[in-house]
Amino acid sequence: MKKVDLNGISVEITKGDIANQPDIDAIVNAANARLQIGGGVAGAIHRAAGPGLEEECRPLAPIKPGKAVITSAHNLPNRFVIHCLGPVYGIDKPSDKLLAECYRNALNLAEEKEISSVAFPAISTGAFGFPFEPATKIALKTVMEETAGLNSLKIVRFVLFSEKDRDIFEKVMDEIT
Ligand code: ADP
Repeated sequence: MKKVDLNGISVEITKGDIANQPDIDAIVNAANARLQIGGGVAGAIHRAAGPGLEEECRPLAPIKPGKAVITSAHNLPNRFVIHCLGPVYGIDKPSDKLLAECYRNALNLAEEKEISSVAFPAISTGAFGFPFEPATKIALKTVMEETAGLNSLKIVRFVLFSEKDRDIFEKVMDEIT
């Protein structure tokens, strides 16, 4: 796992499954607007969490692109799930600003709950079609900008699903630090 210290925050990059990060307080869901089980990340998280997660989500839905809500993690090994609705690339505009807003809102929710660690997938880069490298730059730059203002968060982990995606994150991290 690659780790870079940014303003006292450990930013980690690893290949893995977002639904299997037992050492992390809050995992982030690349949710759909209805906060229901779906494909990709939302499918993996809801399957592992069990039906109680969808039930808790129901009164919180729908959410708008860029927004985030927080729930408990049910049968997952974490304390919380932060559900972010990423932009559908080229349809929810401006897509780059909305994607940055997702990461910012998720970090703010984590801080409000005084959480010390959070793990993100690469929001919007699957079904929502955001090109991977531009999405990586937005994710890492937004987290970098926010690190100075974080108090309780000490670990921000990016969990990528393939080696290729992990390598892009590592390359962009090297470029911007
Ligand atoms: P979105 O609808 O926001 O595009 P997806 O869930 O379709 O969200 O995909 C987001 C990213 O997460 C993609 O890069 C996809 O390859 C990756 N991904 C899919 N399943 C998992 C998982 N279980 N853990 C981590 N990343 C995953």
